[in-house]
Amino acid sequence: MRTDLRQQRPNPLTDVRNLGILAHVDAGKTTVTERILYLTGSTHKRGEVHDGTTVTDFDSQERDRGITIFAAAVSCAWDGHRINLIDTPGHVDFSDEVERSLRVLDGAIAVFDAVAGVEPQSESVWRQADRHGVPRIAFVNKLDRAGADLDAAVDSIRRRLHPAPLVVQLPIGAEDGFTGVVDLLRMRALLWAQDRDTCHEEPVPAALRDEALRRRQVLVEAVAELHPGALEEFCATSTLGAPTLAAALRDLTRSGEGVVVLCGSAYRNRGIEPLLDAVNAYLPSPLDVPAVRGTRDGAEQERAADPAAPFAALVFKVNSTATGRLTYLRVYAGTIHKGGTTMDAGTGRTERIGRILRVQADRHAEVDLAVAGDIVAVVGPKAARAGATLCDPAAPLLLEPPTVADPVVSVA
Ligand code: GDP
Repeated sequence: MRTDLRQQRPNPLTDVRNLGILAHVDAGKTTVTERILYLTGSTHKRGEVHDGTTVTDFDSQERDRGITIFAAAVSCAWDGHRINLIDTPGHVDFSDEVERSLRVLDGAIAVFDAVAGVEPQSESVWRQADRHGVPRIAFVNKLDRAGADLDAAVDSIRRRLHPAPLVVQLPIGAEDGFTGVVDLLRMRALLWAQDRDTCHEEPVPAALRDEALRRRQVLVEAVAELHPGALEEFCATSTLGAPTLAAALRDLTRSGEGVVVLCGSAYRNRGIEPLLDAVNAYLPSPLDVPAVRGTRDGAEQERAADPAAPFAALVFKVNSTATGRLTYLRVYAGTIHKGGTTMDAGTGRTERIGRILRVQADRHAEVDLAVAGDIVAVVGPKAARAGATLCDPAAPLLLEPPTVADPVVSVA
């Protein structure tokens, strides 16, 4: 369900998702991002990768090269949740930047090509995400392509990436005739009509019922094997209800033991709504991830994702834009107010927060404050670079050791 970001009250932290999209180049990351922004109402026109009009890839150099170079964080809303979408560069040359984006994410969608399955870059980004402990769900994209094979793609996830794939959908139709999916939790068919962007729900077609029941059983058994709580219910009733199954899938996603697999065709705008529902249902909020760790006077310290705690935020991107120097922050603890003062924990320099912006695909919404868990861009800091910590001067905390800083990037 689409919700309007502008009409929303500030989200409780439990309803925030800091999300990244990880993929091998060409698997469809840009197209998935584009469709998410379109469906969540962040853009009113669908961009197309091939005509250079996508909104996240807003830099002309990026448009020319057709790959994502500059991470941009975009806020959108889905079903009462705020999703901060952090664009992670997919090209292998930019893996330092991928590392930094991974650090500020709480969860990710890994996009795979249904024809190619797991590709070398999907594997390397997957390993990086493992190192950062980022819970993931998988989206097998391009089901409309000739030769698309969900089962083969799932098999390559199992063999090459190793988590237990937990397939929650059965495709309806194949290749050019791919029209929808059966939701195996609820046993309902989701169908996308030709030339329409909205999906509708129907009973599972009779011809697919046996296959859907068989696949549901495979899912239930895989969940029951990994999740002792679910196993108890399974043994007691020899079946699992959708809410219990969903709760078990959430736990397995967050522990990294299993990966929920969904499928679709981003290009044809099929499969994105259930993907967004899965982001909200399975991926963690900032409250569900471990408290951030940093150092104070050389000693390690933890700081909880609490708006009342002393402020601490990591700068993960600095772009020079027409709006000014935009410093992208992941706020880990505390609250910053427009006009407030922070300290760069690495240099001791005071940095003023002039304006706080929630960056949306095609506009910037100005807000008065940002709290723990949030991702915002601020205008005001003059020297803080990617990797810097901005913190409460009265309670300094250094989140990353100072390194050779990334250059400030000019975005046309
Ligand atoms: P990225 O490099 O991962 O960001 O991939 P893009 O989103 O740029 O997509 C790469 C190419 O695949 C583009 O030409 C897209 O139009 C195309 N593409 C993306 N999603 C789909 C899909 O679901 N089906 C088909 N047939 N093509 C797709």
